[in-house]
Amino acid sequence: MKALSQPSFVPNKRKYLFCGDEEGMERLSPVIQRVQKENHSYQLLLVDEKEGKDISHWLQNQNMGSYLYIAVEWNKLKHLKKVAEDQGFSVDEAQCIGHGARFIQVFCYKCHLKTVVSGESIKQVIDCPHCHLTLSVSDHYSPLHDSYLGYPATIEKGSGHA
Ligand SMILES: [Zn+2]
Repeated sequence: MKALSQPSFVPNKRKYLFCGDEEGMERLSPVIQRVQKENHSYQLLLVDEKEGKDISHWLQNQNMGSYLYIAVEWNKLKHLKKVAEDQGFSVDEAQCIGHGARFIQVFCYKCHLKTVVSGESIKQVIDCPHCHLTLSVSDHYSPLHDSYLGYPATIEKGSGHA
């Protein structure tokens, strides 16, 4: 399941499911408006920011062929994504939209230790705090390590890469 910062409309689904917090629903609003305009069937579930509602029951009762949008803060997205996957929503049946501060883990190619950095670091260069190697953070996500892979950076001085 892809994690994105903006949703995109996927046509020809039997039903559209929108699950998000307030900010998330705002992100989803262009898609929601389109679904309403084109008269597709849909359902909204507002996730309360404090309670962290359990969406598994709601997902369980949906029919096959439903397309799911989840839009919450990045730090809550992983959990909801897992819940959706457990309910049988595959990569092709859902979109995850994150907002707010995002943190990712980077797996160091050399010392095999993980470092938590801001999500902005993808495709940027960081220093591994463990072995001090300069790492280029790739956009290759490793589910095994729950991390983005960091490769030795080949730094060209003055290229404006940093
Ligand atoms: Zn390292």
